Amino acid sequence: MSAGRMSSVVLVGLSLAAGSVAAESKYKEGSCSDMAAKKGEKCTHPCCVAAEEAGTVCDKCNKERR
Ligand SMILES: [Zn+2]
Ligand SMILES: [Zn+2]
Repeated sequence: MSAGRMSSVVLVGLSLAAGSVAAESKYKEGSCSDMAAKKGEKCTHPCCVAAEEAGTVCDKCNKERR
């Protein structure tokens, strides 16, 4: 059935779109880095500055899990 194939394509498309939206901000919502970025600044924590220089995001302040 082509209808079944169609719906799975739509599901994949939706999850891809959701993933790209989440990837837009590399910081965790509400984290110090996120708050600073929203003000056009960068967090001044030594740990965050070091992570920023390394091209990454501070793990300590941007934990994926709560
Ligand atoms: Zn910070
Ligand atoms: Zn930090």
